[in-house]
Amino acid sequence: MQPLTNRVKQVDRRPMTLLEKAYLPAIFKGMSITFGHIFKKKPTINYPEKTRSFSPVFRGLHILNRDEEGRENCTACGLCAVACPAEAITMEAAERKPGEENLYREEKYAARYEINMLRCIFCGLCEEACPKDAIYLSETFAPANYQRQGFIYGKDDLLIPHPVTEKEAYEKAKGGRVKIQK
Ligand code: SF4
Ligand code: SF4
Repeated sequence: MQPLTNRVKQVDRRPMTLLEKAYLPAIFKGMSITFGHIFKKKPTINYPEKTRSFSPVFRGLHILNRDEEGRENCTACGLCAVACPAEAITMEAAERKPGEENLYREEKYAARYEINMLRCIFCGLCEEACPKDAIYLSETFAPANYQRQGFIYGKDDLLIPHPVTEKEAYEKAKGGRVKIQK
């Protein structure tokens, strides 16, 4: 029969020699490979004590952004949900009431905003679709969880800390990605 590839090898079925029966050449060959790797640079790291730097194009956990006064940018227009190929985003819009101008930048805001991380493929299309710089994919990843419900990220999980009242947490969450819209 004609082989499908040119990598076919004929199995050697001749009886083993005395030296082969002692397995010593095979053991020395294996040990030489092992010792050869001992002095090479380790490809692994001691995570979580050490972490690798992310690629500039890494897309991680989402952040819902605020402006420099701490108001939520999202206006619940739904464009991110429409752009999402995994249908991972759900939201409910609400109207801003008088006196809430310091909380929400636009007249409409997302009263509920959820991302199902089990569906998300971290494509970044939600970020690209957003006209308000309200959603970003950060340089962190969603932590492991034992419950499916733990992967449904609500607004409380996604919203970046307040840049004025929680300055330190805000800077940490911001990383190098989030642009502040003035
Ligand atoms: S990163 Fe992609 S899959 Fe995930 S929520 Fe955004 S658009 Fe949907
Ligand atoms: S995150 Fe952006 S695209 Fe999505 S609803 Fe809010 S403003 Fe619209």
